[in-house]
Amino acid sequence: MTAMTLNLTSIMAQEDRFSSGAYIKRPLALVRGEGCYVQDAEGNTFLDLTAGLGVAALGHSHPSIATAIQQQATTLLTCPEAFYNDQRAHLYGLLTSVLPGDINRFFLCNSGTEAIEGALKVARLLTNRIGIVAARRGFHGRTLGALSLTWKSRYREPFQVWQPAVTHIPYNDIEALEVAITEDTAAVVIEAVQGEGGVHPASSAYLQALRQRCDETGALLIIDEIQTGFGRTGRWFAFEHSNIVPDIVALGKAIAGGVPMGAVAWRESLGTIPAATHGSTFGGNPLACAAAIATITILQQQNSPDHAAELGDWFMNAVRERQFPVVREVRGYGLMIGIELRGRVTPILQQLQARGIIALPARLNVLRLLPPLIITREQLEQVLATFEEVLR
Ligand SMILES: *Cc1c(COP(=O)(O)O)cnc(C)c1O
Repeated sequence: MTAMTLNLTSIMAQEDRFSSGAYIKRPLALVRGEGCYVQDAEGNTFLDLTAGLGVAALGHSHPSIATAIQQQATTLLTCPEAFYNDQRAHLYGLLTSVLPGDINRFFLCNSGTEAIEGALKVARLLTNRIGIVAARRGFHGRTLGALSLTWKSRYREPFQVWQPAVTHIPYNDIEALEVAITEDTAAVVIEAVQGEGGVHPASSAYLQALRQRCDETGALLIIDEIQTGFGRTGRWFAFEHSNIVPDIVALGKAIAGGVPMGAVAWRESLGTIPAATHGSTFGGNPLACAAAIATITILQQQNSPDHAAELGDWFMNAVRERQFPVVREVRGYGLMIGIELRGRVTPILQQLQARGIIALPARLNVLRLLPPLIITREQLEQVLATFEEVLR
């Protein structure tokens, strides 16, 4: 039986019967996508402001990504890192062309949380130090190392016993840096815009002070660009808004346009890590590399970061100008937008969905928009018109 023959009720019944229970799910089965739209099992179409959690930067079923995947699938589907591979070699070159400074060393992996795990191991290996500093309200993933950096106690506390010592500092608080970051600190791990934590951008002054404190102490600065990277915030990477260059960058989500992939990138001047200290069966997989090459190439050709900056500014201002009574604040960069509400976000998400728009929450009261970067002004005007119905 293929998915095509299942209706919503049987898909839900089958998933609920067998899945882990880990996810809070919406009663919507998405079976198809094209551009900024997705379709459910009953043939209803939705404007997708989630982009699969910020993954589908070029929208769904982009023909060039689909072709790259098809071609690679019939050429070479798997190739572990014990061998060299043409797609991987090509991807490294492209990544260096979008990352600033001398961020020219990479470890390729398969998800965001693995990029954080890798970044932590690289930081320990390169500094021979142990301490890790992370921010309150931060989110860095669900595997045990990354989880220990993640702030939300509901995610973290059941697994407390596995945790290394991590210090959590208040975000955007320059004063707190001096005491927390010392000569024992291997790395500071931080988002340039906190995503899950409610779409809170770091101030430029804060990131610059953080950079300076890391330089003073020899701690490495790891920026988690998993959600913010690849044009989302109107720059290739969100730290570029603050004119700093981190030591290590964690990448994921949009990197391969929808195919699972993550990467750790670091400054060439820091050197390489000793052989056999890290590894991954699927890391640097040619299928994922081919998808990433297609994605980054098109993002470059279409100048997607500039488009995101322009459209995001226009849209955020348009929402602010409308002065919706339920909106407390609109914040973000580019097409990473948080609309903080005076009440809970869930009913608003439901009303948007009933009107053909799907979006994301962040915490209990923030409406989070991570649309595909190819979204048009006309499509965002449709969103504004729908906001008139649900936010008044
Ligand atoms: C999504 C996300 C992660 C975790 O990525 P996964 O691919 O879900 O493991 C880590 N950090 C940030 C900032 C994220 O948004």
